[in-house]
Amino acid sequence: MNTKEKDLQYIMHTYGRYDVALKSGKGAVAYDEDGKRYIDVSSGIGVNSLGYCDEGWVKAISAQAATIQHMSNYFYSAQASDLAETLCTLTGLAKVCFGNSGAEANECAIKIARKYSFDKYGAERNEIITLQNSFHGRTVTTLSATGQEVFHNYFFPFTQGFKYAEPNNLDDLKNNIDEKTCAVMLEVVQGEGGVNILDKDYVQAIASLCEKNDILLIIDEVQTGVGRTGKLFAHEHYGVKPDLMTVAKGIGGGLPIGICLCGEKLKDVMSPSTHGTTFGANPVVCAGANYVLSRVANAEFLNAVEEKGKYLEEKLLKIEAVKSVRRLGLMVGIEIDGDAHEAAAKCVANGLLIITAKDLLRMLPPLTITTDELDEAVAILDKTLKEITE
Ligand SMILES: *Cc1c(COP(=O)(O)O)cnc(C)c1O
Repeated sequence: MNTKEKDLQYIMHTYGRYDVALKSGKGAVAYDEDGKRYIDVSSGIGVNSLGYCDEGWVKAISAQAATIQHMSNYFYSAQASDLAETLCTLTGLAKVCFGNSGAEANECAIKIARKYSFDKYGAERNEIITLQNSFHGRTVTTLSATGQEVFHNYFFPFTQGFKYAEPNNLDDLKNNIDEKTCAVMLEVVQGEGGVNILDKDYVQAIASLCEKNDILLIIDEVQTGVGRTGKLFAHEHYGVKPDLMTVAKGIGGGLPIGICLCGEKLKDVMSPSTHGTTFGANPVVCAGANYVLSRVANAEFLNAVEEKGKYLEEKLLKIEAVKSVRRLGLMVGIEIDGDAHEAAAKCVANGLLIITAKDLLRMLPPLTITTDELDEAVAILDKTLKEITE
């Protein structure tokens, strides 16, 4: 059996896959098992922030794997401590809790928000308002947090205590707040929901409303974080500060990690045995994240992300079948004439690894992609869209 046949026989069918088995990659270029070359503007859904097999990143994780690959959380680890220090220094937040995925980081944030409220106000004040069209993960609780009805199926009973407000509608949010509200949770740019960029004054109004009422602001930066939007974290575009922030996808550079950060007010909410996970703070993974931050967390790198984003947007808008582009940094949603899912599959066949979000095409290229590679990506997209609209 080949890779595809084995996959279909032995792996649960929870994904609709493109018809490609990837074998290797370097930077923004990937190769399949037949040696065919692809330009990648998906980076494994915003994970490979430095592209495939970045030399420094490979060195960092290899060296750590050859030194000590895992220890339990009963021991101190320099890689984890260094990563926590760097993140707190860069964000002004106070403490971190390590996990292995975005969903887990959000679970952690939800637990901290509820415990803070429990400790201070009692068990009744436990509700969290999230936004319609959001995406927060696939565990039973983060599915509940996700404000899309399609996700609230099959797995009943779902975790209670979530309400959904309409994005960019402050009155609707206010109407949902009552004495039981303990937190508001949002992505400042909804990724899976279709690259919806929240209004600045809306996010700022939420932040001040939260602060006034001791309601915690949880910002899910799982997709938007670590340079993706041209700032280290997307909430910096909004001039707000979260009480809790979750980070995952891009920070590991390709290894599984999820981090929940909290501000000063929450730093002592969690006590021994209230949270944990065996693989959290794994030193190899943390070495990868430390390396990613050493590359991404500087003005020059971040400005280049925005420059490339702008360049890409201008090129995209010249394509006839492109109706509009929604973009922050290198987080890009493309509205097209025609079916985005069909277009994406045809792009892949034509050598461009691209993804979708709702009915948009979506690009989350490696942050290190070159303008030549962007040109190549746009040319394949242009050609493909011409093929399908002919
Ligand atoms: C991908 C994503 C998640 C879930 O992350 P996993 O690592 O898949 O669990 C949560 N929130 C946002 C905004 C995401 O984009």
